Amino acid sequence: MHQNSLIQLKNASVRYGGVHALEDVDVHINAGEVVVVMGPNGAGKSTVLKALYGIEPLTKGSVIYEGTQIQPKPHEMIKRGVVFVPQGRRVFPSLTVRENIEIGGVVAGKKGLELEKKIDEVVDLFPALKNKLKRSSGILSGGEQQMVALARGLMADPKILLLDEPSLGLAPKIVKEVFEKIAEINKTKGLAVVIVEHNIKSILAVAHRAYVLDKGRVAAEGDAKEIAGSDILERVFLGKEAKEEHTA
Ligand code: ADP
Repeated sequence: MHQNSLIQLKNASVRYGGVHALEDVDVHINAGEVVVVMGPNGAGKSTVLKALYGIEPLTKGSVIYEGTQIQPKPHEMIKRGVVFVPQGRRVFPSLTVRENIEIGGVVAGKKGLELEKKIDEVVDLFPALKNKLKRSSGILSGGEQQMVALARGLMADPKILLLDEPSLGLAPKIVKEVFEKIAEINKTKGLAVVIVEHNIKSILAVAHRAYVLDKGRVAAEGDAKEIAGSDILERVFLGKEAKEEHTA
């Protein structure tokens, strides 16, 4: 077991029918760190998050949470303090902004005064949403919807947020705002964040550590700055190594 890790995939494999989505993957997340998972399309990035959260069962290996091997199930993971924000934000357009945020507390078992207090506390982190709480979520911009999705996740008092491509479909300026907000939440709340991202440069600037996946395996891992400065990304994303091998 990796010392002090909050959650961990150990020798983990996931298959979808005949497809090996993950093969013998070791990933760990320590308390309070921002870990980015990168790699080309189909590398297995989303599957890492789904395996940690119990959406996809492992075909081999284990999930270890705070030192104990577990069989993760989404509703139990929320209670353990692990929250998954899937790709595409999934804000309910017919509900108000406040109602969308409230759901995150309800699924975590909060009600009454505790729920109300939590909504106020979470909304304080998102000043841009404050005067829109009673509005329909359908009218929000993509960036605002992503903020609602983050706020909803925070309602469960997570220790770990699992974020699947929060930048998807957002303009570069908005992506920067979303990443800054994620970094702020990590710093002020001390919660760990695991983030699947294709905006590599921007996310490595705010992340502590990184994993590079390639064809379901960990091709590299390390300090975000080291990964940003190495040639691994070029090799994995452009297949340079494969080309060189081919022509050698
Ligand atoms: P990434 O997030 O890096 O794009 P994924 O984790 O989504 O990669 O997928 C890894 C591999 O598993 C890919 O080859 C993908 O096509 C396959 N895959 C993902 N989800 C399913 C599924 N529900 N059924 C079958 N194959 C899947």
